[in-house]
Amino acid sequence: MAGTRNFPCETCGTDEPHRQLSKGEQQQLVGIAGAKHPGEYWMCMGHSGTCRTLRTGFNQRPFGGGPRKLP
Ligand SMILES: [Zn+2]
Repeated sequence: MAGTRNFPCETCGTDEPHRQLSKGEQQQLVGIAGAKHPGEYWMCMGHSGTCRTLRTGFNQRPFGGGPRKLP
């Protein structure tokens, strides 16, 4: 775990702290979205940790469509 980093969040509309996914969450992401590199994803911890919108370090919209969240 590399701690947290601030990124713009598409859902929050502001810079928010994000954390990298746990191994279990990475597997979940592969199952949901077929992500090829789940280790590159970051999850928004905005709204007291309930936002959970996903992005990569380079791409705010890695899924092409609207914001995607981890359940
Ligand atoms: Zn957010």
